[in-house]
Amino acid sequence: MQAKQFNHQFQRPTWAEIHRENLAHNFRVMQEAVGSRVAIMPAVKANAYGHGAIECAQVFEREGAQWFGVALPEEASRLREAGITKPILALGGFWEGQEEFIIEREITPVMFRLDLLARLNEAAKKFKVTVAYHVKVDTGMGRLGVPFSEFDKFLEAAALFDHLRLDGLMTHFASADDVEGVAFTKQQSVIFEDALRLVRERGFAPRWIHQANSAATHAYPQTHGNLVRLGGVLYGFWRDATKRDVAPLDWRPVLSLHTRITHLKTVAAGTPLGYGGTFITKRESRIATLAIGYADGLRRTLSNRGQVLVRGEFAPIVGRISMDLTLVDVSDIGDATLGDEVVIIGRQGEQEITAERVAAQLETISYEVTCSISDRVPRVYK
Ligand SMILES: *Cc1c(COP(=O)(O)O)cnc(C)c1O
Repeated sequence: MQAKQFNHQFQRPTWAEIHRENLAHNFRVMQEAVGSRVAIMPAVKANAYGHGAIECAQVFEREGAQWFGVALPEEASRLREAGITKPILALGGFWEGQEEFIIEREITPVMFRLDLLARLNEAAKKFKVTVAYHVKVDTGMGRLGVPFSEFDKFLEAAALFDHLRLDGLMTHFASADDVEGVAFTKQQSVIFEDALRLVRERGFAPRWIHQANSAATHAYPQTHGNLVRLGGVLYGFWRDATKRDVAPLDWRPVLSLHTRITHLKTVAAGTPLGYGGTFITKRESRIATLAIGYADGLRRTLSNRGQVLVRGEFAPIVGRISMDLTLVDVSDIGDATLGDEVVIIGRQGEQEITAERVAAQLETISYEVTCSISDRVPRVYK
């Protein structure tokens, strides 16, 4: 669907635009950076960080992505239903009872628990197939993965499952984006190399060796292995996603968020605005009502704090953001008119509000900002 075809006449004029060409560009930038011998696994979990998992996966597939990474088997299943045939790694593994679900859909699970390996082995035996999995070793993230101290015993037990094939070894970095995390990241990588040695000594020959997320791929080329798992930089997030002492590549933002002025009025000085009257006008003001609220992902924490772009200029959010509506002060934007397009995230004229900028105001990261844009907001693919 083109932006032009988004029907402003019959729908609420609130939408997110996804710039497919920038997404493809960011993929090419990364393929160039890692070289042709390293495969890229775009992370398309959480609806591709809010950008639309199926549409983004289709773009990445055209650009040569060899894998996809999701959090849940359910997310992988949706990609399969949409016709994605490339291998899909379920980064969070699977839950008891989902063994047949993942085998039927050819989803590759990340494994770190022997009880789940046993269940998967039983299901594979029943289907008379060999199921490939990637094993995750915890080298310092402390979240998922076999602790390194238990890794050799884990491998010894894993070798007994005759319907499973250990086809990948992976770990995940905790602080690859942090200028103060260099020693820790290098230590994680050293532990990973030890883990790889143990894997080979136990007679496994995994095809895929991977450690790096966006930040590590950019700052620590020695961690590329033969596969890198990229989310952030593919969506054009780098100011809060990569290590700040390494020069950025030409990453371009992919998502922008738009709405329109749906009501416009002049109010006297001293007028309270919105729930609780938390903003009181100090002067006669022109106040615009926008057709977007926290149920769309415009976080309520931005009340009396955030800004939007109207006619290429910044306008402050005034009063509390409510579920469906938000007020902005357009007194200083003389020609603002009912129906004007308003940019919440993105560029308008000379000005830009990046997802990273919104994130900084919310004391979070860009990923959470776009993940929070709800299903109620139509995505328009350009
Ligand atoms: C989401 C995820 C990634 C991608 O991280 P980015 O910072 O977005 O590049 C990599 N690995 C794992 C295990 C993940 O869950």
